[in-house]
Amino acid sequence: MTAPSALTDYCNFIAGEFRPARGGEWLDSVDPATGRVWARVPASDAADIDDAVAAARHAFPGWRATPPPQRAALLHRWAEAVLARTGELAAIESRDNGRVLKETQGGDVPGGAMNIRYNASLADKITGDTIHLGRSVNFTVHEPYGVAGVIIPWNAPLAMFFAKVSGALAAGNTVVVKPAEQAACSILAACELFAAADLPPGLVNVVCGTGPTAGAALVDHPDVAKLHFTGSTDTGRRIVRRASADLKDVTLELGGKSPNIVFDDADLDAAARGVAAGIYTGGAGQSCVAGSRILIHDTVFDEFTERLRGRAAAIRLGDPRDPATDMGPIAFAGQYDRVRGYLELGPQEGAKPLFGGRTGADAAGRPALAGGYWVEPTLLAAPDNGLRICQEEIFGPVAVAIPFRSEGEAYAIANDTRYGLAAGAWTRSLDRAHRAIAALRAGTVWINTYRRLHWAVPFGGHKQSGNYPANGVRGLHEWLTLKAAWIEPGGEHG
Ligand code: ADP
Repeated sequence: MTAPSALTDYCNFIAGEFRPARGGEWLDSVDPATGRVWARVPASDAADIDDAVAAARHAFPGWRATPPPQRAALLHRWAEAVLARTGELAAIESRDNGRVLKETQGGDVPGGAMNIRYNASLADKITGDTIHLGRSVNFTVHEPYGVAGVIIPWNAPLAMFFAKVSGALAAGNTVVVKPAEQAACSILAACELFAAADLPPGLVNVVCGTGPTAGAALVDHPDVAKLHFTGSTDTGRRIVRRASADLKDVTLELGGKSPNIVFDDADLDAAARGVAAGIYTGGAGQSCVAGSRILIHDTVFDEFTERLRGRAAAIRLGDPRDPATDMGPIAFAGQYDRVRGYLELGPQEGAKPLFGGRTGADAAGRPALAGGYWVEPTLLAAPDNGLRICQEEIFGPVAVAIPFRSEGEAYAIANDTRYGLAAGAWTRSLDRAHRAIAALRAGTVWINTYRRLHWAVPFGGHKQSGNYPANGVRGLHEWLTLKAAWIEPGGEHG
């Protein structure tokens, strides 16, 4: 057991100050590469959420009145402060949730800073319409909601924190963030940078606690005008039910069971690289866009799965803070158990293991990492798309391979899911690429690539994967309400 004195305590950030939870309770944060507790985060409840919402409410009038170019300048300073601390923030993230440095240092933090800059640059480009009806003057105004509540999951905390908070602030809102209790350290550490960037106290507040306590209190709070939730579809549904009591507006970015289709005319090497990145190295499969259903033309099924086996074997599993590591562990014990449950379920429902499947020390292959939550890149051949492992989001490096005989059958299997977040197709045919884009019911379709995301490109789910695209100019509007104005020259009866 680690002595409590050796642990790092990360506090809530409320009204510009770091504070423990009012109740004095803490939650352990575990390093998933070793299974050992390394830090503590506050176990906050409704009283802490009240404090944070009050601070955000207090800061709102001043921020709303801040001219947009000045808002933008402050956000740009924040981006600079983030970039200057890239290494430190990335190391905390990699330690806390097991995302490898290649992703945190190479993508999440610098990409997060770019995302802040992008949203900063939109702050003074929020414009309405004028509508000509004759005598009356009609125009629309886009206004901030007020206090926005943002609930963040554990798989890529920093990237989401920078993206969501910068959007909300650029639009003129103030924010209360509830990070996931399993991976909150990097976000709490990053709060130091608001003072460095001269962002006023209360603009951004972060309160850590469990979903049913701190999360639910944020959802229920009468002074929270807008909610943004990223996480599983089932939790999203629970939150919407709750928020519907007072008809709060909720933006949802939910789960997926995305198909990645390999046609017989594809460059199979490129496809194997892209498919492996889509489900294995990308966050060890703990990604909402994970390409977890690999649909393969039956004529190339064996050849392709062999190539994928080769790529999977070359993936370096290990310490997330080693810059050479390609794939880290599962982020926390509960999720590790969940993934192992699906590894057991697959063969029981008739799936055939093609490669991988080892967990724990066997998968890590390194005694020093023996206590960690390791799962090898795994592929199971599924006889049909109806199995639970083909329909339920596993959120780990576990893919199913499903054969198809025709293009039409591929699209039918691809769309046979309650989700609609993303889809990929690998083909050399331009016509087929266009047909795939038209046929696949998903918010993003990648052709001959996978898992590419960018702050300038809209990203959102169809079906049960979400309700509004983030990113891009359009994404800013999730943080804005619309008002219509009528002016009658000389008065209505003038
Ligand atoms: P997972 O199922 O992958 O653990 P969730 O989607 O449940 O992830 O969690 C994402 C975020 O939602 C976390 O910050 C979590 O604490 C929060 N959360 C979970 N349940 C609730 C709830 N009932 N109300 C509000 N927030 C919740």
